[in-house]
Amino acid sequence: SAAKEDDVCSHMKVVVRVRPETQKEKDGNFAKVVHVIDQHILVFDPKEEEFSFFHGKKLTHRDINKRTKKDLKFVFDAVFAETSTQLEVFEHTTKGVLDGFLNGYNCTVLAYGATGAGKTHTMLGSPEDPGVMYLTMMALYNCMDQIKEEKICNIAVSYLEVNNQNSTGQNSWQLAVSKKQHIPYRNSKLTRLLKDSLGGNCRTIMIAAVSPSFMFYDDTYNTLKYANRAKDI
Ligand code: ADP
Repeated sequence: SAAKEDDVCSHMKVVVRVRPETQKEKDGNFAKVVHVIDQHILVFDPKEEEFSFFHGKKLTHRDINKRTKKDLKFVFDAVFAETSTQLEVFEHTTKGVLDGFLNGYNCTVLAYGATGAGKTHTMLGSPEDPGVMYLTMMALYNCMDQIKEEKICNIAVSYLEVNNQNSTGQNSWQLAVSKKQHIPYRNSKLTRLLKDSLGGNCRTIMIAAVSPSFMFYDDTYNTLKYANRAKDI
């Protein structure tokens, strides 16, 4: 039978999640530099700050007023606005690859973004609001339960965090699950690490995490450019 288009791993699926402002960002009264247009489109550093009027009043933002705005439109497989839930992110990312996974595809989900951009929240979350990893494992166990008469499934879990900073401190995840290593990397190393996730028999999803705030202007700009390039992988 003819292969469905989504059976072919020609592209990495790339989504962007914009987290809500932190208290510090709110207190600093920074401009918002990410404007989510719809479920696929966002504008970075928009010329018009339409959302300033969202609550019915024009806000005065800490910004360099005469600065030329980049006003860059980006299109992704999905864009999750500040109000998005863990379940929505799961449903539009890893949920869709579980079938493929059970049929032998190598499936990868990775979170990319600056420190503080929302990677941990998205992937791990909290016991009250569990993230993509938990929701995916729950769904996977459900699927396995449904096919247990036909197939024997074994699960092994290992776990690593790629880190481009010093491997000091920050071992908060060292979770119940297996062994965690910190691997210093350049982007090329990350690409090598993901070799099996980028070949033919695979489905790979990148979740790029960004802050909406001017406070993270450079990080967000770099993350969006990187995520945009990753669409071509
Ligand atoms: P990272 O892992 O990328 O360094 P975190 O996931 O720790 O970033 O997020 C930084 C802060 O923002 C944390 O306090 C986290 O709880 C909060 N946060 C991140 N994403 C969200 C979100 N979607 N909704 C609410 N809070 C969030």
